[in-house]
Amino acid sequence: MDNLFFLEAKCMHTKSTFYIRFDKAAGGVWCQTYGVKFAPQSTTGVASNKMSVDISKSTVGPQYKCPHCGNESYVKCGSCGKLTCFNYGDKNFSCAHCGHTGTISYDKDNYIKTMEGNSGIGQG
Ligand SMILES: [Zn+2]
Ligand SMILES: [Zn+2]
Repeated sequence: MDNLFFLEAKCMHTKSTFYIRFDKAAGGVWCQTYGVKFAPQSTTGVASNKMSVDISKSTVGPQYKCPHCGNESYVKCGSCGKLTCFNYGDKNFSCAHCGHTGTISYDKDNYIKTMEGNSGIGQG
């Protein structure tokens, strides 16, 4: 059961809750496989966002998208630490949990690096 977990997130458009499913792939890398509206009750619980899994190195599966609006990415809020679906490529982000807004930074590989906020990263 350590090979699978869910993280709770919200849709930036509908503000509805959904769950990001992670599966452990070869090499111990976590892969975001699906976005689902309901987390299954069996197999595993919903992990807290503080779970000691380094999802910054996770990969995104081809099937993953927000089940509410179809966004294919998500951002961890720099203020409340919760996850909100995100349209990859956008510069501005608004948290569906706490309303915090900020700017998204991309690193050289165009991978979302950080959201500026109260986390101590960036200029926020
Ligand atoms: Zn969405
Ligand atoms: Zn927030």
